[in-house]
Amino acid sequence: MAKPLLAGNWKMHGTATSAAKLASQLADYTGEKPEIMVFPSFVSIPAVVAALSEHSEIAIGAQNISHHTEGAYTGEVSGQMLAGTGCSHVLVGHSERRTYNAENNELVAEKFAAAQASGLTPILCIGETLQQRQDRLQLQVIKAQIAAVIEKVGLQNVCNAIIAYEPVWAVGTGETATPEQAQQVHSFIRAELGEQGEDTQLLYGGSINADNAAALFAQPDIDGGLVGGASLEAEHFMNIAQQLIERK
Ligand code: PEP
Repeated sequence: MAKPLLAGNWKMHGTATSAAKLASQLADYTGEKPEIMVFPSFVSIPAVVAALSEHSEIAIGAQNISHHTEGAYTGEVSGQMLAGTGCSHVLVGHSERRTYNAENNELVAEKFAAAQASGLTPILCIGETLQQRQDRLQLQVIKAQIAAVIEKVGLQNVCNAIIAYEPVWAVGTGETATPEQAQQVHSFIRAELGEQGEDTQLLYGGSINADNAAALFAQPDIDGGLVGGASLEAEHFMNIAQQLIERK
């Protein structure tokens, strides 16, 4: 059984100062929490690392990674740099990067491999577009997105990572997959991973908030959430974390 995990993707919001403040507010919450992870922008990572220096129970990750190890790649950030800054995790294949930066399955697989080679745990983000769902292609799309990474690094390495199912039509739109829609895809992903994936953490992402979280977390193959908008306010995020801990 995979451990409950709540991850906050802070996207391109705020400043290093506001990110450090938000991190400190999360750290102030005492009591039982699920595993918590935050993903600030690159430039805010050092401030968040400093703010959480006495709170190693909150992990810090980056929102992107270069597939190159090092070299003349202006504007890119390597896995070694991220690990050296205090990151333990990194998002790969987020739908906003697939959409706005033309990241395809092969590039995402390269980034996944680069992350693991640097000792980082990737969160592999996968999901179908609205058109693909309307064409009932969601499982085929998910299968291809996972297969590209398995082909690159092998099944066991994929199972050692975290997978976030984020239907593109639900990310940042205010529209959430129904618990049944999400569970259908999550159980499909679990089946794709086979026995080796029994403990792999499978997160749902896409407009999670305090009102819809409990029903999503009640699904047997949803181990937690990747939260964007609702992670930008500590109280809202920790309310969702509480619902994950108390899930039925
Ligand atoms: C995300 O950024 O991964 C995400 C799920 O965003 P939101 O919760 O805002 O839909």
